[in-house]
Amino acid sequence: AAKKDGRGLARTFSRAMLIVLEQREMLRRSLRTALQEGQFFVEYQPLVRLPSSVVGFEALLRWRHPIVGLIPPSVFIPMAESDGLMSEIGQWVLEQACRTATTWPAHFTVAVNLSSAEFLREGLTDRVAQTLDAVGLRADRLELEVTESVLLERTTDNLDALNTLNVLGVQISLDDFGTYYSSLSYLKNFPFDTIKIDKYFIKDLETDEKSQTIVRFVIALAHGLGMRVTAEGVETRGQINWLQKEGCDQLQGYFLGVPMPAAAIDEFLRQSSLAL
Ligand code: C2E
Ligand code: MG
Ligand code: MG
Ligand code: MG
Repeated sequence: AAKKDGRGLARTFSRAMLIVLEQREMLRRSLRTALQEGQFFVEYQPLVRLPSSVVGFEALLRWRHPIVGLIPPSVFIPMAESDGLMSEIGQWVLEQACRTATTWPAHFTVAVNLSSAEFLREGLTDRVAQTLDAVGLRADRLELEVTESVLLERTTDNLDALNTLNVLGVQISLDDFGTYYSSLSYLKNFPFDTIKIDKYFIKDLETDEKSQTIVRFVIALAHGLGMRVTAEGVETRGQINWLQKEGCDQLQGYFLGVPMPAAAIDEFLRQSSLAL
């Protein structure tokens, strides 16, 4: 009987798996046409410099599927990367974000996430320079965010690309710091302007002493290297107070502002000048 039960379980399991796989296949197929069909849009989340000024926004890609609805980037970006679509999509985000930033006050920056697909395709620095030129955005108003996972492959080529971008005046941020390999050699060799501490270390900051020690260490590390530090995923007043006391430079998180469509930014700025 035990054997039979085992087989039954296996059958149900594989049927459930099959449904999941079919859904993923369906998504994968729709992803191929999503760009042409205009299903992507970009939201912008404020970046706040302590004590209280908005200094820019991070562009975050969204996909609204006509049937499934909103699909999170953590689901579709890996698919787009493995299907070779991410470099084209990334270029679209870059153009959108830079064009949107030209409508903002001139001291605001826009941060765009780069995927490894964009490094793997030749000519990243030329594409960025051409995009800035085409939309008329000053290079120092663009910030490119990379994670350590992006830097793992083709390290010397990627170092060259980031150095060239840096010379153009584009700012470079190390995103999700602490969650990948966190090899300190990246910090020695790559031209980062900012380290972004992953929200994993921020979420329990008020109660967890280990998180506190790590965040303190990253702040000191960044400052010692002449870099700014941004805390991601700030959701409470208590976290802000702690981070401010410890000398963190910038904050990002739902407490300060959720990702919003470009059209909502004016209103957000009007209200936040009173609230912060
Ligand atoms: P990320 O670059 O680290 O972006 C921050 C993520 O944290 C965003 O998730 C944002 O919505 C979320 N977040 C912001 N504040 C809070 C908070 O207070 N609490 C919590 N729990 N989360 C917060 P999102 O938009 O789902 O994006 C996830 C990841 O997808 C991004 O992480 C980034 O790695 C990637 N991504 C998004 N847009 C793009 C893009 O245009 N290109 C590339 N290559 N990757 C992108
Ligand atoms: Mg980011
Ligand atoms: Mg991040
Ligand atoms: Mg992240």
